[in-house]
Amino acid sequence: MVIKPRVRGFVCVTSHPEGCAAHIQQQIDYVKSKGPIKNGPKNVFVIGSSTGFGLASRISAAFGSEAKTIGVFFERPSEPARLGTAGWYNTTAFTAKARATGLYARNFNGDAFSTDIKTQVIAAIKEDLGSVDLIIYSLASPRRTHPDTGTVHRSVLKPVGNTYTNRTVDTDRGIVSDVTIEPASDTEIADTTAVMGGDDWELWIKALDEAGVIADGATSVAYSYIGPEVTWDIYKNGTIGLAKNDLEAACKRIDALLKTKGYGRALISVNKALVSQASSAIPVVPLYISILYKIMKAKGSHEGCIEQMQRLFATQLYNNSAVDFDEAGRVRVDDWEMQEDVQAAVREIWPQVTTENIEELTDIAGYRAEFLKMFGFGLPDIDYAADTESHRPMI
Ligand code: NAD
Repeated sequence: MVIKPRVRGFVCVTSHPEGCAAHIQQQIDYVKSKGPIKNGPKNVFVIGSSTGFGLASRISAAFGSEAKTIGVFFERPSEPARLGTAGWYNTTAFTAKARATGLYARNFNGDAFSTDIKTQVIAAIKEDLGSVDLIIYSLASPRRTHPDTGTVHRSVLKPVGNTYTNRTVDTDRGIVSDVTIEPASDTEIADTTAVMGGDDWELWIKALDEAGVIADGATSVAYSYIGPEVTWDIYKNGTIGLAKNDLEAACKRIDALLKTKGYGRALISVNKALVSQASSAIPVVPLYISILYKIMKAKGSHEGCIEQMQRLFATQLYNNSAVDFDEAGRVRVDDWEMQEDVQAAVREIWPQVTTENIEELTDIAGYRAEFLKMFGFGLPDIDYAADTESHRPMI
């Protein structure tokens, strides 16, 4: 079939298998261009491995460090005459390319929050790898069914305490407007923490530990975001920020557990704001990202997911480099985003942006291009008018 982008709000409901494969290849080429990650991980397990930071982590480990990888994700598989999601096509392409170079790659498409997937993954680690030395937790999910109670928790992106009004952009139509969001209820705060906090990460580590499949000296990393003051009411001090505080608290407990296992460690890496399926759903943030991209591209310091994750591995976690912790013990690969000159430029542009000047003052064009790229559209050398086989079974 001929596959065109069909954008509905902040999602694109179609995705292009060859475009997704080309996007994977670009990321592999980038990692290879940076050379091997010395003393990198060897047996890697990624929770949330099909898109965004989790996918980039998997590619960095596999193609930078020749790691064997197991990935868990929640995607719609393709079927004859039915498109799969981008994460499905990303994973079929990654797996084919990894195996073509002799790298082990195994996948679990299912609910990472469930006990069933935990049991299946642990059996696979025992069977194929023996143990894992890096566990990446990179889930972004709108809901979680609790494995013990069966309760479905839904996360919300709302301020806490006060009503919040700020500017936002409809990225599809380029319309800048004010958005007002009512504060979250106590239940919504608790639900968001149940989904995006640290409980599930800790359940994974405990299950892996009890099964004896964590290697001595293993590292576990989860991802967070802080950002500048202009986004704090909706992010850092909002429901998602409180969930991230819970993730950080879990990190301390996981770190203590891993330290008893041959000096392992758990870390939070604070990453840069990037276009992803998760971030495009947050009000205000896409406008901030459009401004940020303009400034960072002009400065030559712009990075995407793959540049961020390759840098995290090569300059912080491995290569014999010492980790640069911030005052709260977190790794900061948002350091270039948070540089004072970058943020001063954001503060200057922020109040000036209108529907009329958004193309000129911000990189909304770059935002849109990157958004479409996540679904495999806009890649060079792909004939988007050609008939494409939409069914890509997992090999
Ligand atoms: P993403 O939407 O691109 O990826 C989410 C992944 O989670 C996908 O692989 C998806 O399949 C998987 N997933 C979702 N629900 C699942 C479930 N129930 N079971 C199994 N897999 C499931 O998101 P992202 O932007 O890469 O975010 C990953 C992490 O990075 C999040 O913790 C996010 O808060 C953090 N982060 C994101 C940004 C940003 O700007 N995008 C910045 C800093 C930190």
